[in-house]
Amino acid sequence: MDVYGIIGNPVEHSLSPPMHQAAFDELGIDATFVTFEAEEDRIEDAFRGAEALGIDGLTVTLPFKHDAFEFVEPTKSVRRVGAVNTIDFTDDGPVGYNTDMTGTLSAFEHHDVALDGTSAVVVGAGGAARALAFGFEEAGADVAVVNRTESKAHDLADEVPRASGHGLDELPDLMADADVVANATSVGLESDESVAPADAWHGDCVAFDAVYKPLETRFLADAAAAGAQTIDGAWMLLFQGVDAFEMWTGEDAPVDVMNEALRSHL
Ligand code: NAP
Repeated sequence: MDVYGIIGNPVEHSLSPPMHQAAFDELGIDATFVTFEAEEDRIEDAFRGAEALGIDGLTVTLPFKHDAFEFVEPTKSVRRVGAVNTIDFTDDGPVGYNTDMTGTLSAFEHHDVALDGTSAVVVGAGGAARALAFGFEEAGADVAVVNRTESKAHDLADEVPRASGHGLDELPDLMADADVVANATSVGLESDESVAPADAWHGDCVAFDAVYKPLETRFLADAAAAGAQTIDGAWMLLFQGVDAFEMWTGEDAPVDVMNEALRSHL
């Protein structure tokens, strides 16, 4: 039996096990997907141990996405974003991917939203914002990074080609001209708040929220009320898993089955 897992701390509420197990079961792959809660001061031992034990693949979540960088052969997405969320243990050693970035792009493709030539606003400058900003840029968008701590928006924008950095006070003006507005802050997580003013939305844009608890955040509800197309955060979670699954198994992922398994656990 092949063994895959998610490594993080905490991981007990992770949605990756039911999502991946449903995919293995659907395709008749003899594999199991388990959780590994590693101690922060033993993370290198944990990665080496996983390799030594013959584990086939890992999803890496907080707080280890940066630690994993030292341990893998980085692919382009990892070199750009500076974080690893997927490890494939190959015969040539562990290879690291950032499927938060590639998965977000797959989620936009799935919704028939083309990013090439668009103006995209990314609110936030943390881990999720990095994946979105580099991903949108790679897909051909001009990116405006907006953050509460403005200096962090400038720091991220300096790394991303064609990107600009801004404080939150500029968000309404930037939204007025935006084709895509993405929330990559934790605002709205289990609360009814939005980082974007309700009256700044217009119908001619796509709203994406990385937050997926609740699925319909205040950010997305306000966007929808203005007539904007919305994409919820579970699509990012789904497609980072889809990309990982396809990397690990070489099979086309059963996207609908994974989506159903994921949403039934939200
Ligand atoms: P992070 O690295 O801690 O970054 C948090 C960001 O939120 C920072 O930019 C921070 O601004 C901003 N922020 C926090 N509180 C704020 C407030 N009250 N007003 C304005 N901005 C505020 O977190 P992360 O890992 O990027 O995660 C961000 C969100 O994305 C989380 O809710 C996470 O669950 C979600 N996420 C979802 C997926 C998915 O697959 N859907 C993947 C990754 C993350 P400052 O710099 O000013 O502190």
